[in-house]
Amino acid sequence: MSYRVRVGRRVVLAAGVALLASTPAVAQQRLKVVASFSIIGDMVREIGGDRIEVATVVGADQDAHTYQPTPSDAKAVAAAKVLFVNGLGFEGWIDRLARAAPFKGTRVVLTDGIANPLTLESGGSHGGHKHAHGASDPHTWQDITNARLYARNIVKGLAAADPANAEAYRQRGADYDRRLGELDAWVKSQIATVPADKRKVITGHEAFRYFARAYGVAFHAPIGVSTDQEPSAQQIAGLIRLMKSTGIKAIFIENMSNPKLVEQIARDAGGVVGPALYSDALSKPGGPADTYEKLFRFNVQALVAGMQKN
Ligand SMILES: [Zn+2]
Repeated sequence: MSYRVRVGRRVVLAAGVALLASTPAVAQQRLKVVASFSIIGDMVREIGGDRIEVATVVGADQDAHTYQPTPSDAKAVAAAKVLFVNGLGFEGWIDRLARAAPFKGTRVVLTDGIANPLTLESGGSHGGHKHAHGASDPHTWQDITNARLYARNIVKGLAAADPANAEAYRQRGADYDRRLGELDAWVKSQIATVPADKRKVITGHEAFRYFARAYGVAFHAPIGVSTDQEPSAQQIAGLIRLMKSTGIKAIFIENMSNPKLVEQIARDAGGVVGPALYSDALSKPGGPADTYEKLFRFNVQALVAGMQKN
């Protein structure tokens, strides 16, 4: 809301009274926070708005599993009042970084209070990274219900660190939560457009187990195909066998950038190779998945289009 104030011969555009009162403080003393990786960096920004200044350690299109923190990360962490992390072992380097900085603020673990985390029975692997056997699967944000928990933890963390703006964080948090609720309903409605017996895809990722559980899509991962190297002829043969035996045509495997390989698979098994899904990082700004909400919409649209061809 705004109104015009006439001062002498000039017309000044002024904001509402409440906004006027808080604007100088907001501009000068924004709460400095750090998010460990791009997806939660976006969530923190959604809730903090222009009252906070967010630095993100692992940026767009980067792999948090294998990340090596830099001196500039340490500088940002040292200056921060709050450090937002995913937890469940996702950021194996975070303790080292916090010690080295050193970090003197409050660490907020966004998976705190999570219901029924999945266990990595087989010692999951993706992105060239192996998780310990029996550890919890950290890719919890692939279920929007968990993202809503993240949002609640972010509101609590910001409100505690900056009580003067607590109400604003709660309001923005409530608005974000409403949007996430709508997004969750949209995902379910999109998956529902695919016949139940077609809700399956092949992917080299093990990053979508929470998505699979929440939205009823089966992700078959061919054994031996990892995301960090070109698959062998034997692995390709195994993949084609898997596609034929399951009737799955929708495949999402990032490392198959070799067009000849993709053509071979498409020819031999009638496969349809979808675009790379966004699992652990946002796209760069302006890309198709530069926010958490856009990431989810992109992945769901790609998955649904692929599964319709099964
Ligand atoms: Zn991952």
